[in-house]
Amino acid sequence: MPYRLIGTTDDCTQCDFCGKAELRMTVVIESLDADGNADSDPIYAGTTCAARKLNMGRGGARKVSDAGNAVKRLMGEAKRFADEMRGIAFNTYLKANLVAFQNYQERTGESGAQFAKDSWHELNAEVALIDSGTLVGTRFEKQLPTL
Ligand SMILES: [Zn+2]
Repeated sequence: MPYRLIGTTDDCTQCDFCGKAELRMTVVIESLDADGNADSDPIYAGTTCAARKLNMGRGGARKVSDAGNAVKRLMGEAKRFADEMRGIAFNTYLKANLVAFQNYQERTGESGAQFAKDSWHELNAEVALIDSGTLVGTRFEKQLPTL
């Protein structure tokens, strides 16, 4: 069963696997079904325990820790993206992407204005997710490391 590393945190410092408390930080992982969708609640774990539970063998804790750092960097990238996009007015968004929306209308025969509105709402939803500290459901989701 594949797992995905979705974050790291120092808010929760207890390992869900072994119960060890006062860890410096935990990694947040979730198991994935065959379609790549999460089928567990987030699990908070120490890097050593995560590596052991996932049968990663020698050097596993280091691999988990590296993956944790990769997620931290990705989160930084996502935050910069969110900062740039937060509060962008619909008219500004429309103007910036006008050609794309016109092309969409020509290509599909469907309303480019509606497509623009939908994609603007999607963008705002992504920003809200990133602000809440998750990358699942955003354009950054595909870059989350699996273990
Ligand atoms: Zn543990």
